[in-house]
Amino acid sequence: MIFSGHNVTIEARAFATPVESPEIEEVIDLISGEVQRATTFIAAHRYSEFVEVRVAMREAMKKGQPRHICAICGTPVHLVANMRKRFFFRHKIEDGSCPAVTRSTLSEEEIRARKYHGLRESEAHKRIKGLIERSLRADPAFDTETIIQEKRWNAADDPRTWRKPDVQATSTEGRFAFEAQLSTTFLDVVVSRRMFYRHAGAHLIWVLASFSEDYRRMTTDDLLFSNNSNVFVVDQETVRLSEETKQFHLRCHYRIPSCDAGTIRDKWHEAIVPFSAVKKEIERQRAYYFDYEAEEAKVSDNELRGEVIAYWSENMTRQMEGRPEHQDRWLALKEKLGKRNIAVPDRPAWDSGFRGMMHAVLTALKGHGVGWQFDTLIQ
Ligand SMILES: [Zn+2]
Repeated sequence: MIFSGHNVTIEARAFATPVESPEIEEVIDLISGEVQRATTFIAAHRYSEFVEVRVAMREAMKKGQPRHICAICGTPVHLVANMRKRFFFRHKIEDGSCPAVTRSTLSEEEIRARKYHGLRESEAHKRIKGLIERSLRADPAFDTETIIQEKRWNAADDPRTWRKPDVQATSTEGRFAFEAQLSTTFLDVVVSRRMFYRHAGAHLIWVLASFSEDYRRMTTDDLLFSNNSNVFVVDQETVRLSEETKQFHLRCHYRIPSCDAGTIRDKWHEAIVPFSAVKKEIERQRAYYFDYEAEEAKVSDNELRGEVIAYWSENMTRQMEGRPEHQDRWLALKEKLGKRNIAVPDRPAWDSGFRGMMHAVLTALKGHGVGWQFDTLIQ
């Protein structure tokens, strides 16, 4: 023996070290509802506190309330150390059936489906479902008997196709499926659900437990951008407001576009809004408080208008227009205008009708004569 394992001593303040390639690569934290990489989880703890974490984990497992499960098979896991005091997760019952152990190859889709299933068992998920249900029950617009958690929703035309929304409810506005966005809801889950509820003529509303504009996971972006840049959150404060006002409220995070020196920039805003003020579209499966799309179109129209005015103010003569750089600039504007179904001539300075119109418009806008070599309107 070159080294004897039980003699390895780790300094208490040093960080714990994971084994290099663990069989169990990812675990699910059943309290926070997050998928965690085993190596990252281990390396984030100091050795001293890690011993306590291990003890707590074992105790929780003995009580039948495990904190962590294997992300692939859902079996409770605990931490063990090898002879060199490197750590890894092991299944509570190691019967060799976990695909992670047998190294059987699962498709990406199968792995995602398994993780998604595991996350649904988490405390975080139960909590958010509870908050949504309480909010709905506070609002008489929703029919009490229709507010149900985790009940099958069958497709009307195909009984083999069904979904089980976290919470479903019917109001005067229609039928709603509320889905909690877990830390890892995947794009294909989002896409297939949208299709299902659109086909059912119902609304699918994604609800998060929290949202931070600085730290957005890719999966949140999938929801954000397919939902007109609006994200909904349910939390203690929104529930309290829903109950006080007897009107279902959600917190909405949304982006407001504005034009800054020729570039459109977005700024985040947030507001607690009544659900009745949220616009719902079945066809596009969108629900939004702030119409980002319309606002962005308006902002970019304004920007384009500014560009045309700037061009015309500088290049109103035929000589100047003849220069290639001006011609290119005009043709670029022409293309942008064309996308908005506005047709303009290729050589505007040579088109007297168009010139006249532009000059009249600019004169009206600026309040002084433009294009006629006059200094004031009166002349
Ligand atoms: Zn497993």
